[in-house]
Amino acid sequence: MRVLLLSDLHANLQATEAVLADAAGWERALVLGDLVGYGADPAAVIDIVRGLAHATVIRGNHDKAAAGLTNAADFNPIARHAAEWTAATLDADRAAYIRDLPQGPVSIDGLGISAVICHGAPFDEDHYLFDADDAARAFDAADEDLILYGHTHLQIAFRQTIEATAWPSNQARRIVTPLDADMVAANGTARSLVNPGSVGQPRDGDPRAAYGMLDTESGTLQLRRVVYDISEAQRRIRAAGLHPQLAERLSVGR
Ligand code: ZN
Repeated sequence: MRVLLLSDLHANLQATEAVLADAAGWERALVLGDLVGYGADPAAVIDIVRGLAHATVIRGNHDKAAAGLTNAADFNPIARHAAEWTAATLDADRAAYIRDLPQGPVSIDGLGISAVICHGAPFDEDHYLFDADDAARAFDAADEDLILYGHTHLQIAFRQTIEATAWPSNQARRIVTPLDADMVAANGTARSLVNPGSVGQPRDGDPRAAYGMLDTESGTLQLRRVVYDISEAQRRIRAAGLHPQLAERLSVGR
């Protein structure tokens, strides 16, 4: 089964459409939160995600802020303004959809491998998972062999292998290594922790939209990038009266 992995779409309609045009032949979709916030098209992006067949969707911190579940007090002023703009833009139906999105972690059945999705980390939906220490914490907090997360807008994967140590201690040593290319999702001796990157606001210096494609039969997970119409997304952000920095950063992927 091929599984489409989307995270941090951030109301970027042009990036979302480009990713879906590029991602052919998937049978299930997993959406790791932050459908809205920053971008100019929250309603259109919500409608696209709602229309995905066989999708499991969880909330992100920007969804919570736009839905009024958090007051965005810990957001920087530009992000807070974007959350307020999003809340004011959404009609009651779409606002309710965002408000009622489940909180991660959510276990995913029926893939043939054990998997779980979360926005930030399995132990805290709002945690930014950057390094190998955080990755080790995330592996410890979940039982599944494949952990999918977003939130940092960085496309990255970690693998945990379990090595038996020498007699007499007879204990397993867990080793976490970062990976950055196509990878084995899970094969019995290794567990994987993967961030497919951000569809709508990449922050790794590559402005192309990011997403992932999991193939459960071959046990591989591709981290993909797609060119999209950045200038149209920027034009819409400026026209909406959102902070111009939210448009400018899309050009540089920061
Ligand atoms: Zn985000």
